[in-house]
Amino acid sequence: MSTQNNLNNSLPLKQLSDRQNGLNNYVNNSADSTVPHEVFLDRTIYKFKIILVGNSSVGKTSLINRYMGFGFEENYPCTINADFKIKSLSINEVIGAELTVWDTCGQEKYKALTRQYFKDAHGVILLYDVTNEDSFKGLTSWLAEIRNNSNKDVSIVLVGNKIDLNDRKITKEVASEFAIKNGLFYFETSSKDGINIDMPFENLAKDIVKKIKENADNEPNETVEQKLERIKERNIIERKREKEVKCC
Ligand code: GDP
Ligand code: MG
Repeated sequence: MSTQNNLNNSLPLKQLSDRQNGLNNYVNNSADSTVPHEVFLDRTIYKFKIILVGNSSVGKTSLINRYMGFGFEENYPCTINADFKIKSLSINEVIGAELTVWDTCGQEKYKALTRQYFKDAHGVILLYDVTNEDSFKGLTSWLAEIRNNSNKDVSIVLVGNKIDLNDRKITKEVASEFAIKNGLFYFETSSKDGINIDMPFENLAKDIVKKIKENADNEPNETVEQKLERIKERNIIERKREKEVKCC
């Protein structure tokens, strides 16, 4: 018998349908209806829309191409309109996710176009170039764009790219402080040297899943005791699944 069936059989029917409804409500209310979702309780395959933004030339296209396994090139044309690529990953080795990663053009004249892509994004990767002060200064305006145009639950990761270059202008401390102040995760990458490429995507996906679970925990008409009992059961199931994955 599959793990999924084992898990499903171990939960009372009412709880199963409550959890299913919680997840479905979240997905239906917050995500692009054109992005398909397949919710299988503990075998959920989460399908997320991720968008990369930041000033022109900070390395958005290069980071996506590296993450997708296409290597590094010195020159990419500006991404007019927007372009997407898809990649599957597993989160904490137990949750399946499929990321649709959208590339955008950072130029001011295309900002109105980029705005359209925020509204149904689950996560945003905001990039700047550690050797370019303007790209760091531009972050405040990008954050305002993101917050004004996207879902309130959107997860945001800040990335300082091009750390392979010697003429860094923005220190890690300054950038981290900015990230903490604005409630963002922060990673430094080099698409050229292949440093930390997966981290921003994986952490973003983890954070989105965490928010989905928290949201699924907000079930109407549930007493505090019922909620605690449900969370306890869920944790037991998750630990059991982690053990199963690690053991064989
Ligand atoms: P985008 O406009 O934000 O999509 O930026 P691109 O990905 O097109 O990159 C702009 C330029 O920066 C290109 O010449 C890239 O080769 C270069 N670039 C991107 N990432 C890195 C990096 O990590 N290190 C270095 N040295 N150059 C990079
Ligand atoms: Mg580009």
